[in-house]
Amino acid sequence: MFTYSLKCDAAKAREALGGDYAVVELGGAVKVVESFVALYGGDVPICMYKSWRLTYTDVEAYGLAKAEALVRGDRVIVRLVRGDEKVGLPEMVDGSPLVVHAMDVNEGGVMYRVFRMGGYVELAAKGVANGVKEAFHPKKGVNILIVDLPHMPKFQHLLSEVFELAREHYVELHTTMISDVCPLCGGRMEKRGRLVYCPQCKIQLNRDVNAVWALARNIVRRLGRERQLAELREIFRLYYPNV
Ligand SMILES: [Zn+2]
Repeated sequence: MFTYSLKCDAAKAREALGGDYAVVELGGAVKVVESFVALYGGDVPICMYKSWRLTYTDVEAYGLAKAEALVRGDRVIVRLVRGDEKVGLPEMVDGSPLVVHAMDVNEGGVMYRVFRMGGYVELAAKGVANGVKEAFHPKKGVNILIVDLPHMPKFQHLLSEVFELAREHYVELHTTMISDVCPLCGGRMEKRGRLVYCPQCKIQLNRDVNAVWALARNIVRRLGRERQLAELREIFRLYYPNV
């Protein structure tokens, strides 16, 4: 549900997890302390990550109960999940092909987008589950659904749909729009009203559209799938040949 990439001593991390990969109860080797996600070896934190979209209360609000942790190079990829949620971080990191589905939920409704090699699709959906039924066809490979959903009472019913979907699919929930990160270079973009502009890449996009591209880039990067970052850039250039 929430994925983090922590830089740390791999040997210590393996020792804490008892191997390269483990699913642990949250509060054991993986703890959330205030807005920090940390991997502990006994009482000692090995590495931690400052989360800009997780606070201590969120752990209870979202029913987060477990953590998946996978050691890769000098990083530990950590995914916080609910007790009933589908786990499978190794597949998310190594499985192929990877298709990233993204849903942007706001006052205007639900916008659904699919990022896959050779194509990019945008369509409006009636709800989270309806959108998935219409367009989310888990085929061979890894399908990750990113949902950008404000944590507000009026969207509570949609949040319930997201929780239900997470029992069957890999779902990543986001609750804050990151609209100032460039989908091509990852640099900061300048705000221009409803638009954002990257001085480095000379591209300008609607900030909501940009936020979803940035979310897709973010999850691919957190999973350590460097090759897919290049693919995302290719998809972007195919879809926006004139920016
Ligand atoms: Zn850029």
